[in-house]
Parts: sequence; structure tokens; C-alpha cells
Amino acid sequence: MTNLATPIYLDANATEPMRPEARDAVIAALDLVGNPSSVHAFGRAARHALENARAVIAGGFGRDADQCVFVSGGTEANALALHTYGAGRRILIGATEHDAIRKAVAGAEILPVLPNGALDCTVLRQKLADGPPALVCVMAANNETGVISPLEDIRAICREFGALLHVDAVQSAGRINPTLDGCSIALSGHKMGGPKGAGALLLPDAQPIDAFMPGGGQERGRRGGTQALPAISGMAAAFAAARQQDWSEVDSLRRDIDKAVMQLGARVAGFGSERLPNTSNIILDGVGAQIQLMTLDLAGFAVSAGSACSSGKVAASHVLTAMGECDGATQALRVSLPWNVEKHHVDGFIAAYGQMVARLRKT
Ligand code: PLP
Repeated sequence: MTNLATPIYLDANATEPMRPEARDAVIAALDLVGNPSSVHAFGRAARHALENARAVIAGGFGRDADQCVFVSGGTEANALALHTYGAGRRILIGATEHDAIRKAVAGAEILPVLPNGALDCTVLRQKLADGPPALVCVMAANNETGVISPLEDIRAICREFGALLHVDAVQSAGRINPTLDGCSIALSGHKMGGPKGAGALLLPDAQPIDAFMPGGGQERGRRGGTQALPAISGMAAAFAAARQQDWSEVDSLRRDIDKAVMQLGARVAGFGSERLPNTSNIILDGVGAQIQLMTLDLAGFAVSAGSACSSGKVAASHVLTAMGECDGATQALRVSLPWNVEKHHVDGFIAAYGQMVARLRKT
């Protein structure tokens, strides 16, 4: 079996490697001594950098800068959206949402997905037609399968029934550009190639919102706490670079993986659906994810189980379960290509995967 001296990183949906533009922006911001809330020259310089970052992020989604609230990451952005727009409303969430949504709200109604991973819009329509005002939470693209949500349809249905729509765009931002007008949007810097510890909530309008952490009134009273300027500057630089990237090369390498593993008898979850350019969720029937993960790790490839991994045990993926996979929900690997993936990394992975399948078949 291939055994590479330097492991190859194919786990970008967990966190993207830092982009050079982001590193430069972080380092420049580290030298800004001031607190962005201070009125003196040092504070004003920090504030200037903060507002530049805000303009980049908000502008990328066609929003005004004052519609962007900086937070600590995707989890907090989603929690702030639920706190802000869920109050007094019935909350509907997609069955394949990330735990940042699933665990942030008790008593939410679950919207099923189709076997291809896309939200079942017929059920969404029925549920909205039947009930009181709602907040609908849907991710733009799934972190485990890369399946892209039919957001045009979802937005139209929400508009028809006066429901608010919150979109978790943590995995899609910079990689694809769906139209998200009128929605609140959660973002995370480290999924774009920025540092960990920064995120943003984009608001659908400039209406004041209640902070759940008022603190010192930063972010116009919408999120207290001194802003993590280096991480925020890095996030903005990463976002700008990600949007400029031509993702077709990554997409073509991901298709090479799909083709190769299917020839070996594996299945790709959500195959045939529109997916992120970098994500393949590969189910090897009859083989637990843990053994696959360990085998590929030993061969020098860092991928992840398609499902949550805790205390060395792979739990069944709620995403694959919602797509109708029973056994497959514990037999999947997620390969998520980083922005800087190279062809020989993918060729090496395909070879190692083939060797793993051949060896497991013999046993
Ligand atoms: N939403 C999605 C779809 C994610 O994939 C993740 C992280 O994996 C999050 C939210 C949470 O983001 P963060 O790690 O920045 O809190």
C-alpha cells in the first residue's frame, strides 16, 4: 500500500488550509495595536481595517456593510440567526442541517430530504401552507455530501407564504455563488481558507437586532465583545481569493475520484445531484467507516468519516440516514478537496483507495 512520508490533506470541509492572502492579512492586522472601538489614532486604524473587511464580506453578497455582523464562526452565526429570526416563530429545519442548527433549537420541525439529498420542496410548501409564520433554515450546500440545495425554489416558496429564510452558507461561500437575496446568511472564515475563530451573520436588512451577548455594544449593539480583527481580516482576504478561484480544476479532480471509486464498486452519495466542486461522500458497502479511515490514514491520506466521529467510534450519519441510507450511514468516507489540491494528490488517493478495496475484498 502507498505510504507517503507527508500526509495528503483531503479534509477541507473540516477546515481549509490557510490561503496566502489570508495569512498576509492576518499578519498585517496583528500589527494593528488599537482596539477598533477606541477613538484615538490606533483605534481608528484598527476600525478602518475592520470596516474594510466588512465591506468585502457584505459586498460579496450584494449587501450594505451595516448588514454584516462579525461573530466567532459558523456556529455562532447560526445561533444568532435563530435567536434573532426564530423568536415567536415556528422553526423548520432541513433534515441534513449541521449540528450548529440542529442542536441550537429545541422543538424544530424537520423537513425531509429526497434520496438525492435535496430538500423536499413539496413538504416545505405543505408545511408552510398549513401553519403560523415560520423561520425556515436550510444549508446552501451540505458539509458531508456537498449536495447543493435548490435555493431558488426554496426562496420562492418562503416568499409565497411569508416565511423568513436563514441559509447556512458555511460550506458554499467562496466555492459557489447562489442568489441569497432576502435571506440571513451564516459564514465561517476557516471554511474559506481563513483562520479559525471568525465568522459573520449577514442580515436581510439593516433593522436593529437584539444581541444575545450585548457586552460592550460592539457591532452596533448586535454582538458584544472586542472583534477578533486578525481573524476577521484573514476571513475577508480568504473570501475574496476563494471567489476569484477557478474551481473547475478542483471539480474535475473530484469527478475523477467519483468515477474511479464507482468503478471499484463503491457508491457516491448524492451522485447526480448538483454538488460542491470539492466534495465526494463515498460509501463502501459492508465496510465500516472506521476501518477505512484508519487504512487510508496509514497510507498517508487525511479524509474524514462521512459521519460524526467521537471517542474513536463512528456514529451513523444523520445526513445519509435522512437520504435513506441505512447501513451506508456508517460506511461512508468524506473526501473534501482543499482549494490548493494537486492532481498527484488525487491520483495517489485513488491508488490507495483501490489497494484498500482489493485488500478488504481478500479478507
Ligand atoms: N455549518 C456547517 C454547514 C458546517 O459545516 C460547520 C462546520 O463544520 C458549521 C456550520 C460550524 O462552523 P464553525 O466551525 O465555524 O463554527
